[in-house]
Amino acid sequence: MSRRLQGRGAAPGAALAPAFIVRARTTATAVGRPAGSPQQERQRLDRALAEAHAQLLQLAERVAAEVGEDEAEIFEAHAEFAADPELGARAHAAIGGGASAEDAVAAGFGEFTELLAASASEYLAARADDLDDVRDRVVAILRGEQVGIEPPGEPSVIVAHELTPSQTASLPRELMAAVVTATGSPTSHAAILARSVGIPAVVGVEGLLDVVGDGQLVAIDGRSGEVLVAPDPSQRAAFERRLEEERVHRQRLDDLRDQPGQTADGHRVELAANVGSRDDLKAAIAAGAEGAGLVRTEFLFLDRGTAPTVDEQTAFYREVLDAFPGHRVVFRTLDVGADKPLPFVVRDPEPNPALGVRGVRLSLQRDPLFRDQLRALLRTGGIAGASSGRLAIMFPLVSTAAELIAAREVLEGVAREEAVDLTGVEVGVMVEVPSAALSADRIARHADFLSIGTNDLLQYLFAADRLVADVAELADVLDPDVLGLVASVIDAGHRHDAWVGVCGEAASDPATAAALTGLGIDELSMTRVAIPEVKQTLRDLTVQDCRMAANAALRADDAHSARAAVTRVLRTARPDA
Ligand code: PEP
Ligand code: MG
Repeated sequence: MSRRLQGRGAAPGAALAPAFIVRARTTATAVGRPAGSPQQERQRLDRALAEAHAQLLQLAERVAAEVGEDEAEIFEAHAEFAADPELGARAHAAIGGGASAEDAVAAGFGEFTELLAASASEYLAARADDLDDVRDRVVAILRGEQVGIEPPGEPSVIVAHELTPSQTASLPRELMAAVVTATGSPTSHAAILARSVGIPAVVGVEGLLDVVGDGQLVAIDGRSGEVLVAPDPSQRAAFERRLEEERVHRQRLDDLRDQPGQTADGHRVELAANVGSRDDLKAAIAAGAEGAGLVRTEFLFLDRGTAPTVDEQTAFYREVLDAFPGHRVVFRTLDVGADKPLPFVVRDPEPNPALGVRGVRLSLQRDPLFRDQLRALLRTGGIAGASSGRLAIMFPLVSTAAELIAAREVLEGVAREEAVDLTGVEVGVMVEVPSAALSADRIARHADFLSIGTNDLLQYLFAADRLVADVAELADVLDPDVLGLVASVIDAGHRHDAWVGVCGEAASDPATAAALTGLGIDELSMTRVAIPEVKQTLRDLTVQDCRMAANAALRADDAHSARAAVTRVLRTARPDA
């Protein structure tokens, strides 16, 4: 008999294949092996930790080559756990108390795991699974057991209570039709890995292993989180139709890759990518990006003890420009300080970091750091070179026109020293502080462009911390009054011949993208994975449809009814979508 189960969609896509059940993994408790002498056990432990460290570094290298550098960092962090002196010292202490090396590993890791697992943050709780993964590897090495999973004989839906990142990475991609787990969250590393390689995944399916047997046919929908076990012939036929629709939809999105962002009647909206790591470079063009609307340069500065040199920065910025030949590339100057401190910028702690010295405020206080970055950007020569990208510079967290004028003066000074003509370089600001949105007319007089950062703008407008899930619902850019403010920023930019874009998360929501297009936005910059869907939505609508969507939202009573109104307009305009 067929059974329908519900979990959380963790990676999009659908699959229909036999189940391959991954049995509960090795756990480090109840070893049943008498401990040798403390000295022998310590030697065994140290050798196993060193072996785990080496294996994890190797795995990181393989994942970097096959998946990407961001994903490889998961295993670099695991390797650090295996070499962590604090964890090692705790395990040694347990051996001193008579434990075997295996039990000592459990004791050493256990306390840390409990702390993480008890965290209210879903993200930190998911890291407890990472620590368990490393622990189990060390124990498997101590026991001489195989680490990872014996792969299935045919492409299968991998079914497990939970799947560790190393188990996920150890299975050949072509044998994983999908992944379904009874526990886990969409932010677990196994889910992140599945998304990166395009494997559909559903997590948090209660009762999964009570229902699914090895080899049984399973259908999963990675968007809705639906899992169908042993579908009957009519359910199977319906699911096969859904698979076909998904395939046609993907194909349509792929076909749009080299098409420009525009409405059905040819109104242009540039669709650019946000870049936050090296991995984003190739992937952005592959996703059909028309340039980069936000390069978060701080990722080059974080996690290091000293600032990158001007030469290092120039080399990196050139690499970014080269990834977008013929397109505009907007480099945002350092957006650090407060909650993103740099070890080489020592400052007193602030009681309210989100309102402290961050973004352009910090740059204006730390002149050498700011000037070095501007010098490096100007030395890229990305000014008129058609074979690479076109350089644009953007200042973050600007609150007043005076800050923009001050930042421009520093830029002009550096340009004189470098003998660079700034006429080919666009200079703009992020509009992400409410005062900047209110002053958009004054600011636009000194800017070539304004890029609305909806993540911070909404955080400050609603007094809703962007990292706190409980207040996230308050902050919707389709709120009629917020949308009205956005419309006034767009108009202010256009009055002064400045183009206006949006580079916050809101740009990646197709309904919001349509409403923004109706308000006259010139550019939308978003996470690369969202580009195909947004492109397709806009290409299915006329500019008049988009205006109707914007007007419907502006007339609504609140964010909720605004979103419903926009959805209705879009559904009428695209009945087949
Ligand atoms: C924003 O605030 O909307 C933005 C795009 O910048 P970040 O998310 O990097 O703060
Ligand atoms: Mg911001």
